[in-house]
Amino acid sequence: GVRTEFEDRDVDTLCPFCGVGCQTTAHVKDDKIISVDGRDGPANENRLCVKGRFGYDYIDHAGRLTKPLIRRDDAPKDWQAEMRDGDYSAVFREATWEEALERATGGLRAIRDEHGPFSMAGFGSAKGSNEEAYLFQKLVRTGFGSNNVDHCTRLCHASSVAALMETVGSGAVSAPFTAIDDAECAIVIGARPAQNHPVAATYFKRAAKRGTKLIIMDPRGQNLSRYASHSLQFKAGRDVALLNAMLYTIIEEELYDRQYVQANTEGFEELQERVKDYSPEEMEKVCGIEAAVIRDVARTYATARTSIIFWGMGISQHVHGTDNSRCLITLALITGQVGRPGTGLHPLRGQNNVQGASDAGLIPMFYPDYRSVETDEVRESIESFWGKPMDPKRGLTVVETINAIHDGQVKAMYIMGENPAMSDPDQNHARQALAKLEHLVVQDIFMTETAWHADVILPASAHAEKTGTFTNTNRQVQLARQVVPPPGEARQDWWITQALAQGIGLDWSYLHPKDVFAEMAQVMPSLNNITWDRLEREDSVTYPCDAPDEPGNEIIFVNGFPTTSGRGKIVPAKLIPPDELPDNDYPMVLTTGRMLEHWHTGAMTRRATALDMLEPEAVVMVNARDILRMGVEPGDYVQVQTRRGTILLKVRQDGDVPEGMLFIPFCFAEAAANVLTNPQLDPFGKIPEFKFCAARIEPVQAV
Ligand code: SF4
Repeated sequence: GVRTEFEDRDVDTLCPFCGVGCQTTAHVKDDKIISVDGRDGPANENRLCVKGRFGYDYIDHAGRLTKPLIRRDDAPKDWQAEMRDGDYSAVFREATWEEALERATGGLRAIRDEHGPFSMAGFGSAKGSNEEAYLFQKLVRTGFGSNNVDHCTRLCHASSVAALMETVGSGAVSAPFTAIDDAECAIVIGARPAQNHPVAATYFKRAAKRGTKLIIMDPRGQNLSRYASHSLQFKAGRDVALLNAMLYTIIEEELYDRQYVQANTEGFEELQERVKDYSPEEMEKVCGIEAAVIRDVARTYATARTSIIFWGMGISQHVHGTDNSRCLITLALITGQVGRPGTGLHPLRGQNNVQGASDAGLIPMFYPDYRSVETDEVRESIESFWGKPMDPKRGLTVVETINAIHDGQVKAMYIMGENPAMSDPDQNHARQALAKLEHLVVQDIFMTETAWHADVILPASAHAEKTGTFTNTNRQVQLARQVVPPPGEARQDWWITQALAQGIGLDWSYLHPKDVFAEMAQVMPSLNNITWDRLEREDSVTYPCDAPDEPGNEIIFVNGFPTTSGRGKIVPAKLIPPDELPDNDYPMVLTTGRMLEHWHTGAMTRRATALDMLEPEAVVMVNARDILRMGVEPGDYVQVQTRRGTILLKVRQDGDVPEGMLFIPFCFAEAAANVLTNPQLDPFGKIPEFKFCAARIEPVQAV
């Protein structure tokens, strides 16, 4: 962009809203951002979507927390706000930083010392920087003494990562989404990139226009299908039936890459055996796609010179999410569609730093760089580096932590930048747990639904108020620079985490995020040849990177896989039904997700003026026939109910939603979709089944 007379400086930084990782320039006047432009980053080449361009002013929202807050002694813990940003003075009083930190750390110390390390847990954030994630998990592991640390990756790609680690030995993407430029065929399954990764979608559209065969597979329709060669709206929850039928076709018609399979994989014979029961002709009734179409898609993918697969939450957020991912990985492995330009496996990461936060060890089973907490040599080396003994058992995941609070095991929590009161499944259950905690410290920028349950709230920094590194879906480590100061007495997140660490007895003395990055680089081989100075100069470096003067390897698995055998492991999957099937009482299928204008729980985007004007109220998307059957008009209020709760919201007619399905974005606190969702977990990734539960919808009187 060009600087105008209306601004006094420009700062190069990053969009905070999604895993695409668009580079931006913020234009500033009197310490306020007045506009944002796209920069020429490797993932966006000057483009931005509506969130990146117009979503920035949430940082100036009147509801920003600007002073530390302490819960009043007489305020009941289960008090729930009727409205966001309402008056909280009856529940919290303002405090100095000194008093708030003393109260926060005093409570944490007391519970740790009385009940031991397993009574403590922490949720960090995929919205924070790599440095913040690293410090957070280090605090939990060395200060609380357990591995009870997790973040919302558990709710998005945990099952994809479980499958990728098991089969190809690395949880990250094998190629950037820009690799679609070299692909003859691309499958996009369980994802809506035009809504959720909009700038990535522009690359997909361009590739399709240039001749890439774009195959879209999802129970809901989407506008990207206009660019597709094939669009398969299969039955929700029947992914494995469809994918195994594709594998059946590829094996039966001998379209697999025999040489690649022999040289680079293991487990092919078990797969041959398993998929025998999944012929397209058998599976067409199960998944709702004609056998001829399944065969055509399988042939297109397998016989293209280069094919790449992209997937999203529609694959991962199921009790069979790991199985879904295993099938996709198997497709790539048996056809050799990986490790070359234009091929690969790309789980589209949702949060701006979900890749980096996971890499930095913000997960209960792994230290930084996915080294198991249960491997003695690994633990001993980390113990000697951090100078503290650590627990040899994996910790609790997000939903397990909520259950452990109900069971009385977990009594104190530190939550930074996460909103489990909104994001977790079966919300009433999650909120009751938060209210039950003996001590809860929340670090955030707004009075989130979670913060209402806190004992101490520490006012933190928004994306534009801090400097740090972030790793996008393409494995590009990028530098975000501070644009404006935090408001009032709000502080940088790394500073707050360090103050808490010091208060619970850790001798930390980092002076700047770059000190943290330097320490991370010592324990994370993935950051080899990536330095802070380099990022200041170059803005973005892809990991793994072989030399200080190389841009990093966009494509991995060129020569085998980082598994013990060096081979990719084929793990066949069986068709498992969704946990809660529709019945007479709850005849519809409810699925949840995001929308273009709002990000996740809406804590940021619903406070951004332009985005809130575009999508100001809670809606449920429903097929026209179901609306007609109910006898209501689009815009009328309806009631949606599941076995876990009921919400009231407006109905919107949506041709993308098939008959018998309801879609509710989970960003609306006033009609929260997660009151309804099923907390049943995938056994491997421990991810809840947000994409499928039984529901019913009924008209109500105008409200
Ligand atoms: Fe921001 Fe993602 Fe939109 Fe890019 S695509 S501007 S990173 S929300």
